[in-house]
Amino acid sequence: MTKYNFYAGPSILSRSTISNTADAILNFENTGLSLMEISHRSKEFIAVSDEARALVRELLDVPATHEVLFLGGGASLQFCMAPYNLLRTKASYLDTGIWASKAIEEARLFGEVDVVASSSDSNYDYIPKIYWVKKDADYFHITTNNTIFGTQMHRIYDVDVPMVADMSSDIFSRPVDVSKYDLIYAGAQKNLAPSGVTIVIVRVDALNKVQDRPVPTMLNYMTHVKNKSMFNTPPVVPIYAALQTLRWYKESGGIKVLQKKNEEKAEILYDRIDSSRIFTGTAAIEDRSLMNACWRLKDNYIDLEDEFLAYAAADGMVGIKGHRSVGGFRASLYNALPIESVRALINTMKAFEAKHASRIPPLVR
Ligand SMILES: *Cc1c(COP(=O)(O)O)cnc(C)c1O
Repeated sequence: MTKYNFYAGPSILSRSTISNTADAILNFENTGLSLMEISHRSKEFIAVSDEARALVRELLDVPATHEVLFLGGGASLQFCMAPYNLLRTKASYLDTGIWASKAIEEARLFGEVDVVASSSDSNYDYIPKIYWVKKDADYFHITTNNTIFGTQMHRIYDVDVPMVADMSSDIFSRPVDVSKYDLIYAGAQKNLAPSGVTIVIVRVDALNKVQDRPVPTMLNYMTHVKNKSMFNTPPVVPIYAALQTLRWYKESGGIKVLQKKNEEKAEILYDRIDSSRIFTGTAAIEDRSLMNACWRLKDNYIDLEDEFLAYAAADGMVGIKGHRSVGGFRASLYNALPIESVRALINTMKAFEAKHASRIPPLVR
């Protein structure tokens, strides 16, 4: 049976990424060796790392002021590395979800943290838009897409200080003006590669400004800038997989083409949710994420939740159970997810609704 993979992360990858990586695990670049048993300093792997970083630069239009790094530790390590390297006295944070609030907690270890606004009072179902970022903040941290709650920042307002962004779940899904950011980071397992590598894009002249606190070598971005992400052994297999995805992005026509496809996928799914008589969306409409769509059963039908999950599973739908902090359902629509998968999910939703039609009161005209 065809499986439709809507997992939030680790999540769907393009077929070419998976099969090329599988091939390289058996025989890497005709070396007769596995990708898993070659030196990261071999000329063959250095070529992989260089091409992958060059493709990130090309696809995201990264200016010469910034360096692209591939690090370990996940996006979660960036919650501490960012303030370790960039917070001198004070930083501002926008609290839009569980990941954002984890980043805030870590930053508090390093200095004053000004949470400019939070949507925690309504279980993070919207993006706050009215806030004031102090001019003397060292940076303003945002989470561009809130994977768990299905909200996304569709407008990034200009502020007076450099920005730092967790783009784990929407990097490469739309164009980004990298010049506005001192730092962008993203765990690879949402839109790029298997888990194990984190993409970091850092403005080099923002580094080495923290004076009153030594930064451990491995946690210092400058270490990795100077060594082109080869200070220690990088995650070789995930970086190879990332290169395959980046090549596929380029062949697909680049970020704007991916963005358009993402818009189409989200539009048809949200249309189905909004025209349904048993389902309803959970996030504020203007802030709905193009990457993670969250919805639930309306109150009168809430008892059907487990039945819908089983029904969808029987149709091949995988990974649509919502995060425990939201409940309901979530479909992740990352770059590698074809629109056909969304159409299949929509058909399942329609059929399930028809099955329960007798319970649904007739439309009052
Ligand atoms: C998944 C995710 C994280 C955590 O990533 P790890 O690589 O598991 O540390 C952080 N932020 C966002 C927005 C995420 O989606």
